[in-house]
Amino acid sequence: MKISELFSKDGYSLSFEVFPPKTDSAFDSVKHATEEIAKLHPSFMSVTYGAGGGTSKYTLDIAKNIKDQYAVPTLAHLTCVSSTRETVRERIADMREAGIENVLALRGDIPAHLADSDRSGWVYKHATDLIAELRESGADFCIGCACYPEIHPESECQKDDIKYLKAKVDAGCSFMTTQMFFDNNLLYNFLYKIRESGITVPVFPGIMPITNGNQVDRAVKLSGSFMPQRFKSLVDTFGSSPEAMKQAGIAYATDQIIDLFANGIKHVHVYSMNKPEVAAAIVDNLSNIIG
Ligand code: FAD
Repeated sequence: MKISELFSKDGYSLSFEVFPPKTDSAFDSVKHATEEIAKLHPSFMSVTYGAGGGTSKYTLDIAKNIKDQYAVPTLAHLTCVSSTRETVRERIADMREAGIENVLALRGDIPAHLADSDRSGWVYKHATDLIAELRESGADFCIGCACYPEIHPESECQKDDIKYLKAKVDAGCSFMTTQMFFDNNLLYNFLYKIRESGITVPVFPGIMPITNGNQVDRAVKLSGSFMPQRFKSLVDTFGSSPEAMKQAGIAYATDQIIDLFANGIKHVHVYSMNKPEVAAAIVDNLSNIIG
């Protein structure tokens, strides 16, 4: 099922993100965790892709398993930065063969050792280049892209960030998923600005339940997200107690989702990080709200 079709459905829904294993030995446990999440009947599940390509096979294996065994639509991520055209075309062919209908087209983070290199010779400099490649492949993919309510860390200003976001939509994206954020007002402000710029495609807000005090620094470093004082106080108070922090983090994420629903958002994407118990707790908290 194409993710773009979800938007014509009534009611509120959740989707979950999982990541593939990095090694053969972790495959079974990751597969099991993703299956437990699939059993919660999310509207779709997304499977991330290692920027270095190391987990590319597993991205497809996990996505195909969820789709074929649990009838949950899947969204396979694909990155292109510093890849050759041959490699990217191979990945696209693999996705077609696996019956993948939905692709999140990403540039990927620039590997540290290439940060200062000359990028003029790269085939894929931005996600737009990958979107064009996916379109040119002739496959009928439903393509999505990433967006950043607090701007991408490499961007100098939001105006430029939104200009390039519009270029991704114009290149063929039918929806977008946001970077995590912890203050919903940032999302509402972002939505207002992108709609004003003429972007009309659906946006899935991405919510990350922080269930471990140690996750906070990493999440902030990766996403550059602003941590509201309300959230910092929660981590200060409960961060040293794993069970209390888990419960508080799930409650905070649930509260964000309810506020999004109450403000006109119909679909939220949850960064469930291969944690079925966290995904299940959120579904349970919203059992009378989501369909
Ligand atoms: P782009 O859209 O190319 O943007 C990157 C930067 O370039 C931005 O500053 C943008 O404003 C600028 N830009 C874009 N187009 C142009 C242009 N034409 N000219 C000049 N500047 C331009 N990473 C992974 O490795 N694997 C994953 O599975 C993964 N999943 C993700 C899912 C989501 C929802 C999000 C938000 C991020 C994900 N990432 C993933 C991280 C992502 O790869 C990084 O944030 C990366 O740095 C940017 O990717 P992008 O597709 O947004 O890049």
